[in-house]
Amino acid sequence: PSPLDSERQLEMRMLPYGDAQYLLLARDTTHLHRLEVMRRDFIANVSHELRTPLTVLYGVTESLEDELEDQPQLARSVQMLREQSERMKLLVDDLLLLSRLETGETTGPQDWFNPFPLFQKLTDEARILSGTEAHAIVLDADPKLEFQGNPDELRSACANLLFNAVKYTPGGTTITLRWRVDDDGARLSVEDTGPGIASHHLGRLTERFYRVDAGRTQSRGGTGLGLAIVKHVLARHEGHLAIESQVGRGSRFTCLFPLARIRRAEPSGPSN
Ligand code: ADP
Repeated sequence: PSPLDSERQLEMRMLPYGDAQYLLLARDTTHLHRLEVMRRDFIANVSHELRTPLTVLYGVTESLEDELEDQPQLARSVQMLREQSERMKLLVDDLLLLSRLETGETTGPQDWFNPFPLFQKLTDEARILSGTEAHAIVLDADPKLEFQGNPDELRSACANLLFNAVKYTPGGTTITLRWRVDDDGARLSVEDTGPGIASHHLGRLTERFYRVDAGRTQSRGGTGLGLAIVKHVLARHEGHLAIESQVGRGSRFTCLFPLARIRRAEPSGPSN
């Protein structure tokens, strides 16, 4: 038997065994834990290595496209190359972000900030993404509510929810981004009046690469990692995600944060 060093991981379960007696089961999960760390490191390394060649590939196809204006057939092929390399770049970026979140390696410090300008910027970006589809994008946010967290991570979570609402609902749908506090905590929610999601999918949406409709998701440019990223960002901020949806009526994705992470901005009084 090997000594119990500090690296060793044990999973314990206590089971009732007769009258006032218990059976303690201990399972050594060290090997599983080591495999998990190897898996994460592998994904992080591969993503990191792929990023540079993909960025070059994308850049080159972009400039080639400009030079091929008078050769439409060739320009079309280069356009396909650019689109596919862009897709791969998005996927690699999401994989890298997810593995950073999983390993607890922060993308930056957690400080107090007012997220209102961030929400304004994201709703503007969502309108650009919607383009001629013309979703009605509404921002209903408390401009004085400060949050303690990492701005880049909050941006990433909120962008995923908001851009999903644009991607997976038809034009004309109303999408509302809300930021409110009540007695239970703060809520950041994205609600849409789109087609909704059948209830049997809801529990699996935050799994990596889980898609409701694979064909449609790919054609909308999704990586299948968006909601997994949201879930990890929330876990790093003691928050959690609630998903409600009704087919034919729409969906609501709510991020709940504890009150300890919220404060009201000090009114800026007259300076003397
Ligand atoms: P992706 O990065 O591919 O968009 P996500 O993890 O963000 O993947 O989302 C998982 C799936 O959830 C998507 O493939 C899509 O089918 C579904 N989905 C997400 N948001 C919505 C929404 N607002 N309305 C309908 N379906 C949605």
